[in-house]
Amino acid sequence: FTSKLPDLPTTIFTIMSRLSHEHSAINLSQGFPNFEPDPVLVNLVSEAMNSGYNQYAPMAGTYSLREAISNKINSLYSHKYNPEHEITVTSGATQAIYTIISTFIHKNDEVIILKPAYDCYEPAIESNGGIPVFVQLEGSNFKINWEVLKQKINPKTKMLIINTPHNPSGSILSDDDMKKLASLLKDTNIILLSDEVYEHIVFDGEEHHSASKYPDLAERTFVCASFGKTFHTTGWKMGYCAAPKELMDEFRKIHQFNVFCVDHPKQKALTTYLKTPENYLSLNQFYQNKRDVFLEAMAKTKFRFTPSKGTFFQLMDYTDITDEADTVFAERLVKEFGVAAIPVSVFNVNNEDHKVLRFCFAKKDETLVEAAEILARI
Ligand code: PMP
Ligand code: GLN
Repeated sequence: FTSKLPDLPTTIFTIMSRLSHEHSAINLSQGFPNFEPDPVLVNLVSEAMNSGYNQYAPMAGTYSLREAISNKINSLYSHKYNPEHEITVTSGATQAIYTIISTFIHKNDEVIILKPAYDCYEPAIESNGGIPVFVQLEGSNFKINWEVLKQKINPKTKMLIINTPHNPSGSILSDDDMKKLASLLKDTNIILLSDEVYEHIVFDGEEHHSASKYPDLAERTFVCASFGKTFHTTGWKMGYCAAPKELMDEFRKIHQFNVFCVDHPKQKALTTYLKTPENYLSLNQFYQNKRDVFLEAMAKTKFRFTPSKGTFFQLMDYTDITDEADTVFAERLVKEFGVAAIPVSVFNVNNEDHKVLRFCFAKKDETLVEAAEILARI
């Protein structure tokens, strides 16, 4: 019974959430809200169920939802995706990402991943016979070293994966970064997978620079998005991807057989909900307030930090507390202090030890303050 990835460990998110549960800790590890989504949205789902939307949706998603997504992207990033051919509704961003990779990655194709990176890219590449090629983001701002990235590109490079706003660092790619990327990829056949699940969580007046905004990038890009992050519904596993027709046609050949279609009543509800832009545009301020509540409380601890620029994650440097490796310290934090966080070394090249933990602030304000008060006692 030899599987394709026999040595793959269980994801750190499952490990830390399980440990947190076992020790009744405050769970700031895995990224999900501990508050409820808007009741208006929840009611729209029950209305859809009561109105008979309980059978298979169209394979690529309902046309009305694809149209609403297309209008949203056009209004924010001035790029018009054709809803018929260029948008597919998926079971979260995770299914979009896996399907993109399995559609295009052949044996020995190389895929460049910027590290630290969210953990679902690498196994998807390896299980399809591809080779992940890592480039470490540098410095406290997690910047791309363009020279190093350029050196990694060769005729075997099939895909490059970016993630902005970035999990786990909370950094964002600038307009200049996106233009540099466009010029780097020009004259290549490299597909860009742009993971933009935190597109609506950007702080301090900064802007999200979607790959769809740059025509030279859009022509080779799959943009991946998640309604889970945007509408506080990670358990619904609803998302989508957008790409030019020639790429999306191929994507759908695999999508139709690994899931066929996704949840119909939720598509109906999201279509209506997306028509009010405030429902997603308010998210920047909503999470900026949470970040600020958390950081104000964390200022009284020995942890050091640079405020996150986007996502609902904050890195915390614990050099002033202990020499322990982050995996050891994270475990002790749960067991002795009752607060769970994610050790960041697991996302780096060679598991480099940075003495940094990732905390999720998608939590009620009182949860954030309570956790910080505990952490202040260390
Ligand atoms: N990409 C990143 C960077 C993420 O943090 C997540 C979090 N879950 C995902 C993709 C997957 O999103 P979804 O829950 O919609 O599958
Ligand atoms: N994206 C979430 C995080 O980074 C986790 C999602 C998952 O557990 N797969 O915490």
